[in-house]
Amino acid sequence: MSLLVVGSMAFDSIKSPFGEVERVVGGSATYFSLAASYLAPVRLVSVVGRDFPKETIDMLRTRGIDLRGLKIAEGDTFHWKGYYEYDLNIAHTVKTELNVFQDFAPVLPDAYRETPYVFLGNIDPRLQLDILAQIRSPKLVALDTMNFWIEKSPGPLREVIRNVDIVVINEAEIRELTGEFNLVRAARKVMTMGPDRVVVKRGEYGVLHLSDGEIFAAPAYPLETIFDPTGAGDSFAGGFMGYLASRDGAAPTEMDYRLATMYGSAIASFTVEAFSTERLEGLTRDDIATRLEAFLALTRFTV
Ligand code: AMP
Repeated sequence: MSLLVVGSMAFDSIKSPFGEVERVVGGSATYFSLAASYLAPVRLVSVVGRDFPKETIDMLRTRGIDLRGLKIAEGDTFHWKGYYEYDLNIAHTVKTELNVFQDFAPVLPDAYRETPYVFLGNIDPRLQLDILAQIRSPKLVALDTMNFWIEKSPGPLREVIRNVDIVVINEAEIRELTGEFNLVRAARKVMTMGPDRVVVKRGEYGVLHLSDGEIFAAPAYPLETIFDPTGAGDSFAGGFMGYLASRDGAAPTEMDYRLATMYGSAIASFTVEAFSTERLEGLTRDDIATRLEAFLALTRFTV
C-alpha cells in the first residue's frame, strides 16, 4: 500500500571527525523516501529550489518514487549546516536556511489524498498539520521532529502530535520535548499527548520501541566504518514505515512492529557507511535481507 512522506529536501554541509562535505544532497524526505522505496510505493511532498540537482530528482524517479507532490520553486533549496563530535548521536546545528520552505503551502495532488500510510517527516509542524488535514482517513500516521521545531514552534508541534499514531524521535529530542531524562518516562509522557506508540532513536545504541505495556529494544548494527550519521534517523523511519506499508493493510500486530523496527535498523545501518545518500542509493533487497539475518545472529541466544 502507498506511503506518503512530507519533509525537507536539502543541501547539507557537514563536518564529522571522519571528514567534511559541503552542500551534499540530504533532507528528511530524501532519506526517508529512498529507504522506504525498497519496500513500498512512496509518494513524496516537498519543495526544492532550481539549484537542486536534476540527477537526484531523476534518481528518485528511477527508484519508483512518485514525485507529483514535489514542487520546484524559484529560490534556493533548504540548507542545513551542522557538525558531529565523536559522540555521533548529537547533531550540532550551525545554520538552518529554510529558503524555499519559508512560503511553501503544499496542495496535495488528488491521487495523494487517499494515501493509507503517512509519515510527517522532520519539517515545520504547521506544514505537517497542513498535509494531515488534506488526507482522507489514513490508516496510520507517524511523525518525526527535532530540537529546531521543538523550540521554534511548540504550539503547532503539540497539536500535530495529538493527531498522530506514532512518534519517531531521537533521544535528545524526546528529552527536550518532555522535560524527562528517563526515556521510558519520556515515552509515556508522549503517549499521554495522543499517540499510542513511541519509537526512540538512540544512534549507535539502537532503538527503543514503546507502546502500552510493551517495550522492544533493537541494537544498532556494530559497524567498523561510520562516516556520517546524517540521515540515519530518516532512513530508519523509511524502513520502519516502508515495512508496515508493504503488508496487506490489516492492522499491524506487535510482531509486525518489531519486524518494522528491524527493517528500519537494517536500512539505517547502510546510510551511515557513506556521506549523503550514496550508500542508500545502491542497495538491493538482498543487501537488506542479509543485514536482517546479521541482526538475528547478533541478538540470538539460548537460556
Ligand atoms: P537525521 O536523519 O535525523 O540525521 O536528519 C538529517 C536531515 O535532517 C539532514 O539531511 C538535514 O537536511 C535535515 N534537517 C536538519 N535540520 C532540519 C530542520 N530544521 N527541518 C527539517 N529538516 C532538517
